[in-house]
Amino acid sequence: PIILSQTSFISSDDLTYPYQERALQFGDGIYEVIRIYGGRYYLLEEHVNRLFRSAEAVKIELPFTKREVTDLLLELLEKNNMNEDGKVYMQVSRGTAPRDHVFPKDVPANIYAYVQELPRAEEKLQNGVSVITQRDVRWENCYIKSLNLLPNVLAKQTAKEQGCDEAILHRDGRVTECSSSNAYLVKDGKIYTHPETNNILHGCVRMKVKSLAEDLEIPFVEEAFHVEDIQDADEMFLTSSTSEVMPIVNVDSEKIADGQPGPITRKLQQAYDQDAGIEKAT
Ligand code: PLP
Repeated sequence: PIILSQTSFISSDDLTYPYQERALQFGDGIYEVIRIYGGRYYLLEEHVNRLFRSAEAVKIELPFTKREVTDLLLELLEKNNMNEDGKVYMQVSRGTAPRDHVFPKDVPANIYAYVQELPRAEEKLQNGVSVITQRDVRWENCYIKSLNLLPNVLAKQTAKEQGCDEAILHRDGRVTECSSSNAYLVKDGKIYTHPETNNILHGCVRMKVKSLAEDLEIPFVEEAFHVEDIQDADEMFLTSSTSEVMPIVNVDSEKIADGQPGPITRKLQQAYDQDAGIEKAT
């Protein structure tokens, strides 16, 4: 494949990273994952905006404007003849310099982006997934899409080892989000999810689902729900660019309601598909 490296395009074989890359040594960088449907980006502007917010928050200077990076990302799809469902991963680190916690001076950021095919998780979108609950032991700036994902990696691995797909994270019993997605609970016709504070990633799909819920006149309540609310939930779901609107049907080995994806989740899935221009198999 062709990789975007800095602001030009190279073969993936030619992309190497020096040992004193700050992403490798400190996780000193940020990233984005952007969904592609039928060779077209979904929510591209939202992802580019978040990339700039993350960069500003960690004081990384980006060598391009929003317009320029948007054009580079579009060119990346063209260069790879991307016409399928997929995703782009983009990473920006503070650069390469002798190892020192202090920021290096006059060192340019290192950037790369690649495209990968990614079919939709049809079976799981239909039947839902099982999750576990775990303490959220991350830092206080989870709104930054930082490369420091060790707590997320460990939480997801624990879920996997228990035959589950995700870990729902909570701080003192209040659910923040999942290890790589946002979390929602439906009760009495209302959707509850953690507000957009520093304790969660402000998901692009979360933003979209909020507006879709408003269009559907389903109340969208930005209040954290509690782990103990889960046992009485009518429905649950999670969202992310790769998982879309994914029903949660089982938490800590207990069924949610009757163990089937619920009607509000289904409505949001349909609205999402329509918004993303996803063609349904008939
Ligand atoms: N929360 C976390 C911790 C994530 O890593 C992600 C995405 O990977 C999300 C939420 C969902 O964000 P988005 O909808 O922008 O993909």
